[in-house]
Amino acid sequence: QLYNQVQDLKGSIRVYCRVRPFLQGQSDGVSTVDYVGENGNIMIVHPHKQGRDARKVFSFNKVFDTNATQQQIYADTQSVIRSVLDGFNVCIFAYGQTGSGKTYTMSGPDLTAEDTWGVNYRALQDLFQISKSRTDIIEYEIGVQMIEIYNEQVRDLLVVDGSSRRYPLLAQLIISSTLDIRNNSQLNGLNVPDASLVQVKCTQDVLDLMRVGLKNRAVGSTALNERSSRSHSILTIHVQGKELISGSILKGCLHLVDLAGSERVDKSEAVGERLKEAQHINKSLSALGDVISALAQKSAHIPYRNSKLTQVLQDSLGGQAKTLMFVHINPESNAVGETLSTLKFAERVA
Ligand code: ADP
Ligand code: MG
Repeated sequence: QLYNQVQDLKGSIRVYCRVRPFLQGQSDGVSTVDYVGENGNIMIVHPHKQGRDARKVFSFNKVFDTNATQQQIYADTQSVIRSVLDGFNVCIFAYGQTGSGKTYTMSGPDLTAEDTWGVNYRALQDLFQISKSRTDIIEYEIGVQMIEIYNEQVRDLLVVDGSSRRYPLLAQLIISSTLDIRNNSQLNGLNVPDASLVQVKCTQDVLDLMRVGLKNRAVGSTALNERSSRSHSILTIHVQGKELISGSILKGCLHLVDLAGSERVDKSEAVGERLKEAQHINKSLSALGDVISALAQKSAHIPYRNSKLTQVLQDSLGGQAKTLMFVHINPESNAVGETLSTLKFAERVA
C-alpha cells in the first residue's frame, strides 16, 4: 500500500504541541498548563495574573501532554514520514525555547537506548523497513546529509577527511567552510549540493553518522549545549526509488530540523557575539514563521529569500510538500513568557 493518502491533514501543514514534564528536583512544580484537551486545545494559566486575562486557550492539530511517549509521538508522525517513499518532500520542525524538549523529540536523550529514540532514528528505521518490504517492486537508495546553520552560515556536519569517508568514525574531523545554497527545482531538495551525502543501508550506519555529526557540531565551541541551542541543525534524508518494471525514478526528501532556541534575548544584556547570534536566530525564526503562514493562507508571494533556513528548505515547503511543526513548551511558571510567545508563534502558522 502507498502512504500518500494523508487525508487527515488540514492542508499540508500540521502543528503539534508537546509539553515537557517537570524535571527531577526542578522548580516549585507549579505548572502553567491548566488543561490539555483531546481536541488539540491547551489552556495556559498565567501565574501572576488574575481574572479573564489569566487564562488563554490555544488550538493545534494535537497536544501531547507530559506523559506522551516517544512511541506515541512517532505514531502520529509516521504517515507524513512514510510519504517520502512515494516521492513527497517533508519538513519536520522542532520549535521552542532552549530546554523545552526539541532535541528530546527529534533525537531522544540516549542513542544507546532504542526505546528512547526520537523521531529521526525511528523515521530512518521505519523507512529502511518499508523499503525492504517493497524490494520486489521498487529499489530504494537512502542518503543522508546533516548541516548546521549558525549565524546565517551553512556548515556540513558530516564532512570528514575525504580519504576515509567510508569509515567516518575513523576519520579526522574538520570544520567545513561555509557552503552555498542553490535553489533549483531540478535539485529536488538537494539544495546544499556540496554538503556530504552519505548512503546508508541500516540503522547502525545512521547511528555511526550521527556520532560524527554531533562531534562536528561541538568542534569550535567550548560548550556543546550552548552552541547547539543557537544553531539550527538539519538532518536530511534523501530517498530515491526505481520502479523495477517501468524503470521510472521517484525522489523524495525528509528534513528533520532541530531549530535554535526561540527565547528572546534581553537587548540590554546581550553584546557582541551573543547579540549577533540572537539577531540571526530571531531573523530566521521569523522568516520561517512568515513562510509557513504565507503558505497556510495560500498567499501568492512566499518570502523564502529572507533567511538561509527557508532557502535551504524551499523545495520542501509549499507545493506538494508536507510540513509538521512540533512546538515545545516548558511548563514551569518562570517560563510563562516564553511559553505564551511560543504558542502565539505556533498559532500563527497553524
Ligand atoms: P532543547 O533541545 O529544547 O534545548 P532538550 O531536548 O535538551 O531541550 O530537553 C531539556 C531537558 O529536558 C533534557 O534533560 C531532556 O532529557 C529533558 N526532556 C525534554 N523533554 C522530555 C520529555 N518529554 N520527557 C522527559 N524528559 C524530557
Ligand atoms: Mg537541543
